[in-house]
Amino acid sequence: PDLSKGTVTFLVRERNGHLYGGVSTSGWAYKYPGRLGDSPVVGAGMYVDNRYGGAACTHTGEMTIRAGTARSVVLYMKRGASVSEACHEAIGDLRELKGGYLGPVIIHALDRHGEPCVVTTGGDDGDVYCLWREGMDDFLQGTPLLVPPQ
Ligand code: ASP
Repeated sequence: PDLSKGTVTFLVRERNGHLYGGVSTSGWAYKYPGRLGDSPVVGAGMYVDNRYGGAACTHTGEMTIRAGTARSVVLYMKRGASVSEACHEAIGDLRELKGGYLGPVIIHALDRHGEPCVVTTGGDDGDVYCLWREGMDDFLQGTPLLVPPQ
């Protein structure tokens, strides 16, 4: 089996409006010694603020650490962007990174009303996300929306 990836993120909105985020320790297999990844870096791989929403990232943590991606998505929502606009803006930020280790990034986000958005820079074929709302019998499974380069 392909065991080369596996970071899992959760974004939850409770009925009372509280938001929560969780992320597994980085699932990047065969990491070189000392590599941290973005999962444990608040603001890079995960950030949640009850007032605006939450975001979590998977794949190339080297990039989301440099761009502060999860925090940026929440900040864009604070500044009035919809969850989709905020994710698109953050993908643009990632595309502006030059040099260093570059690769795919998926951003998962939820606004404070529970509206979700999952976008990708591309290159992560086969990845899926699951969405569940109260009353649904089963999870809805989706593929991240590809944001094409401008
Ligand atoms: N984002 C993780 C990391 O950079 C990798 C992953 O999503 O699987 O360590």
